[in-house]
Amino acid sequence: MTIARILATKGRDVVTAQPHRTLLEICEILAARRIGAVVIADAHGQLLGILSERDIVRAIGQAGASALDDPASSHMTTEVVTISENETLLATVEKMNNGRFRHMPIMKNGRLDGLISIGDVVKFRLAEMEREQSALREYIATV
Ligand code: AMP
Repeated sequence: MTIARILATKGRDVVTAQPHRTLLEICEILAARRIGAVVIADAHGQLLGILSERDIVRAIGQAGASALDDPASSHMTTEVVTISENETLLATVEKMNNGRFRHMPIMKNGRLDGLISIGDVVKFRLAEMEREQSALREYIATV
């Protein structure tokens, strides 16, 4: 299964925030949208980094609640690993496992074109396995 197929069902919306937004503002976005990470982009939508709940917890753990006033740019990850929609679900899981992160932006022609989380991966992989299983059962029943 390709990432393009997942995006066709899930949609290509990506929640972004600009780098000057404070961690508190990012927390408000994460809570309102019920998500675990935001892509940090400039006013033109150019990818600058990614900031997840882990980064916020680490910042508060190290500096205390005052970290909530810091800009996203001071705690985001700037070396963002991205994929294209032509990659497979399996290749994507491998990249997430190797990098130990749960979010993966999808890029097309240098622009953001979607985001999938480990939750999406698990959901779509389970559905795929169920389809494979029932196809096998049907096949066995006919031989
Ligand atoms: P996560 O597991 O996605 O909540 O993120 C764990 C750590 O990896 C945080 O420091 C994130 O900023 C970072 N991170 C999340 N997604 C990516 C990604 N696609 N590429 C690089 N770093 C990431």
